[in-house]
Amino acid sequence: MNLNTQVGQPKGSNMKISMIDLHGQYATIKSEIADAIMKVVDRQDFVLGKELEAMETEIARYCDTKYAVGVASGTDALLLSLRSIDIKPGDEVITTPFTFFATAEAISLLGAKPVFVDIDPRTYNIDPTLIEKKITKATKAIIPVHLYGQCADMDPILDIAKKHGLKVLEDNAQAIGASYKGRRSGSMGDLGSISLYPGKNLGAYGEGGVIVTNDKTLADKVKILRNHGSHARYMHSEIGYNSRLDNLQAAVILVKMRYLDKWLDTRRNIAAYYNEQLKGLPITLPFTPEYNIHTWHLYVAKVNSGLNDLMKYLVENGIETRTYYPVPLHMQECYTCLGYKKGDLKQSEEAASTTFALPVYPELSKNEIDHVVKVLKQYFGK
Ligand SMILES: *Cc1c(COP(=O)(O)O)cnc(C)c1O
Repeated sequence: MNLNTQVGQPKGSNMKISMIDLHGQYATIKSEIADAIMKVVDRQDFVLGKELEAMETEIARYCDTKYAVGVASGTDALLLSLRSIDIKPGDEVITTPFTFFATAEAISLLGAKPVFVDIDPRTYNIDPTLIEKKITKATKAIIPVHLYGQCADMDPILDIAKKHGLKVLEDNAQAIGASYKGRRSGSMGDLGSISLYPGKNLGAYGEGGVIVTNDKTLADKVKILRNHGSHARYMHSEIGYNSRLDNLQAAVILVKMRYLDKWLDTRRNIAAYYNEQLKGLPITLPFTPEYNIHTWHLYVAKVNSGLNDLMKYLVENGIETRTYYPVPLHMQECYTCLGYKKGDLKQSEEAASTTFALPVYPELSKNEIDHVVKVLKQYFGK
């Protein structure tokens, strides 16, 4: 197994393992990052510069799409993508309630209505068999989210979209580098949005996002939207945004792209090790359908009862853990206006109260991973 044995902490009860270790990753690329940043600073070339263009070429190549457009965040990647396909007030957009808030927020910011469809409890991704009954005359698009780093079941989603004339936007915030039946995440729908938030698998040193697409019209449109709706200097064909990805972030991402595949492989090795070591415990381990190559942004397991006690035990033993996400979006206070009640989307509600994430990132040491395994076995008396 190819696990990191350099970085890490001494064995013992003082071990502290957090959900992510940005310092550990930085230590491995520090001088390359410094070079890349200083090149931008020396040129004083901060906005819409050379690194951004190079990064866009690199990300498009990596995601197997014709175009990539850097924007200010993953949330803006969703928002500008929805604008590019003309989502307007009164429109409905189908998505999952079991995701980070931004997925639905982008829909609502345009005055459209998020319509939530429950998840497949095995993968936690949107259940395609439940989509069609939520389609109305107002439905314009579907946003599947590739949660935790593996793709939603895209073929039936794409079929439904085609049949009903809907657009598909892949929320690929957590899954750059994943693939579904040999196709890259983000390349299957009309557009894909990526987050470069520092804690994501490909994190900038600040905020950032990318839109990928094979459609030139849409790529041109989001380029205009990110720059105040301007198609030529001081000429505005749209009301847009200031949502350009800055060149310093692009320079950081270009460095990290050299390592991304290696980092994703290490995540896969750690997840495989957990899967191997934790089987037999009374918890449901993550399920990866055969058609998926996972990127393990998060390693999420489920326990039928006693979630709080289990999470408390992990924390007491130095292991950070969290539920992604503890309140499904149809139960959020700001969405009471949508009129959902508890019990409407049972699988999402159940996942929100039974799942927990274990640390999974490339810089985890073998000692740390074994500590996680040991503490879980101890908890269950194994
Ligand atoms: C992180 C995330 C976003 C938002 O990305 P930001 O870069 O933080 O704006 C959107 N959707 C999902 C599923 C995410 O995990």
